[in-house]
Amino acid sequence: MRTAPVLAGCLWILCASAVPAATPDPAGAAPAIVGRALAPSPLADDLRRLTDGIGGRVSGSPAMARAVDWGVAAFKAAGVTARAETYTQKVTWAEGATRLEILGGTPFPVALVAEGWSPPTPAGGIEAELVHVGSGTAADYAAAGARLRGSIVLVDSTVTETWADLFNEYNRTGAIIERAIAAGAKAILWTSARERRLLYRHTDTVAGELASLPMAVVAREDALRLARVADAAGQPLRVRFTMPNVIGGPVEVANVVGEIRGRELPDEFVVLGAHLDSWDLGTGALDNGCNAALVIAAARAIRESGYVPRRTIRFVLFSGEEEGMLGSRAYVRQHRAELDRTRAMLAIDSGIGRITGFQVSGRTDVAATLPKALAGIAAFDASQVLMDGDLGTDNVDFLLEGVPTLVAAQDPANYMPNYHAASDTYDKVDLHLLAQHVAIAAATVYGIAELDGALAPRQSRAEIASLLERTGLAKEMKESGLWPEWESGQRGRTP
Ligand SMILES: [Zn+2]
Repeated sequence: MRTAPVLAGCLWILCASAVPAATPDPAGAAPAIVGRALAPSPLADDLRRLTDGIGGRVSGSPAMARAVDWGVAAFKAAGVTARAETYTQKVTWAEGATRLEILGGTPFPVALVAEGWSPPTPAGGIEAELVHVGSGTAADYAAAGARLRGSIVLVDSTVTETWADLFNEYNRTGAIIERAIAAGAKAILWTSARERRLLYRHTDTVAGELASLPMAVVAREDALRLARVADAAGQPLRVRFTMPNVIGGPVEVANVVGEIRGRELPDEFVVLGAHLDSWDLGTGALDNGCNAALVIAAARAIRESGYVPRRTIRFVLFSGEEEGMLGSRAYVRQHRAELDRTRAMLAIDSGIGRITGFQVSGRTDVAATLPKALAGIAAFDASQVLMDGDLGTDNVDFLLEGVPTLVAAQDPANYMPNYHAASDTYDKVDLHLLAQHVAIAAATVYGIAELDGALAPRQSRAEIASLLERTGLAKEMKESGLWPEWESGQRGRTP
């Protein structure tokens, strides 16, 4: 910490009024923080150790435990206090040797991977007819009729190119799965929404529970060929689907929480968060290793600037994000007593696309005061305040608790083509841009922590409910399966 200038020989009372706090001129804070963020730092080394060194880190796995140790150690090396905050994850999951064999006709090799948190197939696999159900609408299922009972269904997709495509990938699945179950199907194969046989995985779970049917993602070109063969007149296409996923749990997992205590209002909090866990086909560099490393680097830049924020800033690396934002849900439960004094939560989770501004999820009160906190990042052209929001990351449980949330709005860049895929690796990260994002994130949370008053008040349950309707988030929650969690009081602010 930089010390205040000493006025030698003055009367103590004069000194007190000339130097109101043991901190340098606040106007200098943002340039100092930005300067530290852009200076040489361990940022790239930290990211390389996380991605190449530890690799993919599914929440609840040994690799994730190593990543938590990495996070605590990296904060401490940055001179920031940090601790692991544990909670219980109900289910652990790992993929075995997933296979699809074509029985009869002209067999060909089919590349596929298990969906995350999919149950295994029974021992020996499922031998059944593969029924192509188009895009899985009610009409598609009706057309397939009685053949569906006992079958494995194959569902089409369109290639994901935009954020809207990606959200549609998630939001359409619930209804398709329900129809498959109602029709008596035994498993679902999803056509990959990426070309060139790229494989990736998701879950369709919202609270860390196992999915209700065995499901896998099939390489797009292989799935399209299977669909053509299945659609051809003549013999039904019989296959054997073997997916010996390994299910375990419950297990203790952890969020990593770093902290810089506020100088005037230490019991008020601003949270900067990114998830540390990832899928395991690649090494989780874009999603979300680069932004986990960013959170640590932001803490380092603020500490090294010598400025101490008025309010406490928490730097949180969440676990369990990919399974339904389990880590951020655990954080709000464990810190519920502080939520009245949690002034904002900023989440970053869209890889290395250039930050253009911040989504405030319909909070007009946040939009009105946020520009003041963004004064320090004017040079980055990253200060747009966007009223929209969605349900894609760790801000959601804070939003459902009425805490003002910001999500970094980012260009798509190379996010979608590598999303959850084997190709999500260190080499995809633009390290120069990442350092700029460290500067933007650090100066933004510092700016919020430094505001004269709160960014915006915490909302009541009634205000949150109205916000969800007004923004369309309620509809999205119903499609994705999150709505019952909110409605039943499992998640979100209670009345
Ligand atoms: Zn992510």
